[in-house]
Amino acid sequence: MAAPNRIPRLQRALALTDQGYCGLKRAIAACTLTNLALMVPFAITVMAFGVVLMRLTGQDVDWRALWGLFAAGVAGLVAVFLCARNDYRRTYVTAYRETEATRMGLAEHLRRLPMSFFNQRDLSELTENLMGDVSSRESLMSSTIPQLVASCVSTAVVCVMLAFFEWRLALCVFSTLPAALVIVLAARGHERRLFARQTGARLAASARLMDYVGGIRDIRACRQAGARSESMRAALQTLRDIAMRVELSVDVCVSAATTVLQAGVGLTVFVGTALLAAGEVDFLTLLMFLLIASRVYGPITSILSQLPNLLQLSGRTARLRALADEPVATGSGDAAGLGEKGVELADVRFSYAEGGGEVLRGVSLRMEPGTVTALVGPSGSGKSTVAKLVARFFSPTSGAVLAGGVDLAGLDEESWLRNVSVVFQDVTLFDDTVMENIRMGRAGATDEEVRAAARAAHCEEFVGRLPEGWGTRLGENGARLSGGERQRVSIARALLKDAPIVLLDEATSSLDPENETLVQDAVSRLCAGRTVLVIAHRLRTVAGADQIVVLDGGRVAERGTHAELMAAGGLYARLVGIQRESLGWSLS
Ligand code: ADP
Ligand code: MG
Repeated sequence: MAAPNRIPRLQRALALTDQGYCGLKRAIAACTLTNLALMVPFAITVMAFGVVLMRLTGQDVDWRALWGLFAAGVAGLVAVFLCARNDYRRTYVTAYRETEATRMGLAEHLRRLPMSFFNQRDLSELTENLMGDVSSRESLMSSTIPQLVASCVSTAVVCVMLAFFEWRLALCVFSTLPAALVIVLAARGHERRLFARQTGARLAASARLMDYVGGIRDIRACRQAGARSESMRAALQTLRDIAMRVELSVDVCVSAATTVLQAGVGLTVFVGTALLAAGEVDFLTLLMFLLIASRVYGPITSILSQLPNLLQLSGRTARLRALADEPVATGSGDAAGLGEKGVELADVRFSYAEGGGEVLRGVSLRMEPGTVTALVGPSGSGKSTVAKLVARFFSPTSGAVLAGGVDLAGLDEESWLRNVSVVFQDVTLFDDTVMENIRMGRAGATDEEVRAAARAAHCEEFVGRLPEGWGTRLGENGARLSGGERQRVSIARALLKDAPIVLLDEATSSLDPENETLVQDAVSRLCAGRTVLVIAHRLRTVAGADQIVVLDGGRVAERGTHAELMAAGGLYARLVGIQRESLGWSLS
């Protein structure tokens, strides 16, 4: 999408790829050809009718002409068949290819967007974009738009033919068209508003549904079924009501337009009879004229009934376009080797939402290569945020995160992430085998390397218990594994990645003691010789760190080693005191 101003309007309006746009043009041509071919048999029927009607005027039936028309009719049918086959290939195949290309393109685009984008969007909306919006565009591409153009062309052809036949009657046939168009266009604003409301209601309903389905366990545990399903029911009812109103309003509008349009037949009969009485046209001409005129409204009615769909499309493709135009994360510098030089935060300020409250208010700290830095502080003080900034999931609002003196903001996100292993509390697992879930740490690692990392992270013990061992699929977001097991998979990934910087955010805090020992052991292997940032709720696990930084309300409250901070008797000493009492541990 490098030069949006050079992209043709239709392509831009539909958010099509170049290939898709070419395909659409071919589909339109194919569809038009089919429609024109379909007129041949009809024209032949009308002509045959004319031959037979000669009897009425006392002439003999011209059998040679009839046989000639019959042969032409057969040829016409073959032509229609060939055109329709070509039409099918051009329209459906193109549309499905385009759908796939768009989804892949958008998914790829999403991967390159800055994390701050996902902070503002919810998952159901993005999924609706990728599935719903693209699907509805697919049906428009495969049938509506080609049909629409084809109908316009064939109607214009018939119109010209009728005008040659008898222009006054042709004028009568089409005189009601402008009025019908006015009705459809006048209802446009109202329908657009309804469509927008329908989309809003659909998003709300799918968000409620996702909440409900995703939280079913908690809902049951808290005996919340009533309240939760009530809000889901309300959202679904709103959606139903608005969908019915949309249908009704579209239907009323299209019916009214069609009725007005059909009034043209009456007018033609009336004017035709008058002309007949005045001897201006003969009976046969009038009869044939009415025969053709009765067929001409079909395509026009279908155009009218598709217009509301086209209107709705513009809203849907606008969302696809907006998504495709979302700027990708900036920075292109190569980060190779920078991870070995430690990381520094220089007076970093940060807020998640633009103009929102500051979460970090001028944090400075240095993580020397090969040392362990512990971040502690009350919950909500900004510890996880610091880790996310070091991982470059977000960029500071002001100040900078530096590696070897280079600002991370100027580096390519993927290139920098090769230097960093993250083990966070909420591990994301994919519905794939254990083997592949660990291999995500380093694509291309051999099975043997994956097994070695898994062994070091104490994964082998539970992998052996899974029904199909290494080949067991983990279910959506690793539903088959316990908290401690997920944690170990995540550590195995990090070990496999072998990055110089390791970020551990509450990696062990939700584990039971038995699990914790295993995970703690895996963590120590992971940290050996690396630059480590560890965030731990249980202070005893960080007492041995080279430096402890205490955050409070987004600021560094104090820093030093465990001994220094204990001696200073500040916030850290207080937090340690509290934990000692409640957990009953002591540092010997
Ligand atoms: P900690 O890890 O020290 O408990 P966090 O860094 O997670 O604290 O959060 C610091 C503050 O930032 C909290 O007030 C939290 O509500 C807010 N916050 C955290 N993550 C987000 C987010 N994704 N969007 C908006 N606010 C957030
Ligand atoms: Mg946190």
